[in-house]
Amino acid sequence: MGTRSKIALITGANKGIGLEIARQLGRQGFTVLVGARDSGRGTAAVESLASEDIDARFVQIDVTDVQSINSAAKLIAAEFGKLDVLVNNAGIFIENKPPSTIDVSRVRATYETNFFGPLNVTQAMLPLIRKSDAGRIVNVSSGLGSIGTMSDPDSPYGGFSLAGYNSSKSALNALTVAFANELRDTNIKVNAADPGYVATDLNNHSGPRTVEQGATEPVRLATLGPDGPTGAFFNDEGPVPW
Ligand code: NAP
Repeated sequence: MGTRSKIALITGANKGIGLEIARQLGRQGFTVLVGARDSGRGTAAVESLASEDIDARFVQIDVTDVQSINSAAKLIAAEFGKLDVLVNNAGIFIENKPPSTIDVSRVRATYETNFFGPLNVTQAMLPLIRKSDAGRIVNVSSGLGSIGTMSDPDSPYGGFSLAGYNSSKSALNALTVAFANELRDTNIKVNAADPGYVATDLNNHSGPRTVEQGATEPVRLATLGPDGPTGAFFNDEGPVPW
């Protein structure tokens, strides 16, 4: 069964920046597929979006579980036959010690969600994105993934020493460029977005920015016109150094 409306899948969309990306895309007329690993949390998010007249559906997707990713892709293929926008938003921050003493299993777990998750999801969804007239893939990265920023002592992030989270986002940035290069001759654009330091559960609501502000750049990159960039990294002030 096909559809004429634009379809967007956002992973980790049951709360935080992902839920707000879903809301902002929904307000623009997208049918938003609320990716969530937990059906209770996903359904609650869909209900709150539906109460704002947004066309939202729950899609069960745990980005560390390839079976759930493949099931989600099959469901989207059967229901919509295409995918216009994929926002790889789901991410975790579980750092508790500096690089010299952190348990390596925490770093691995961070990579499973923040790097291998987007890789598996993008591979599974790409056949559907190729069926879109103008596919857009947005990887929600972080200023902490910017090696240029991290190595600048004058930057507000210059003092951070995190082995897992930062490097998982640097790797996600490299993956963004790799996909953009592979897809350069198609109408698909692949970019990375830094939402800035946003108050969410991920940082115990310590960030100064709102989810509305944090969602702005991912949404802009999800809705780029045909002349927009690909293989780039932006926050809402412009390009971010790699
Ligand atoms: P959040 O409120 O903690 O939301 C994270 C979302 O990811 C939740 O929906 C969570 O689901 C989901 N998630 C985690 N692991 C998952 C998995 N294996 N499968 C599917 N979903 C999973 O955090 P947030 O701040 O909105 O973070 C969203 C993205 O922005 C992340 O990629 C983060 O790294 C990035 N970011 C955030 C900030 C910031 O300051 N907040 C700054 C830069 C970048 P559950 O509810 O089931 O846990």
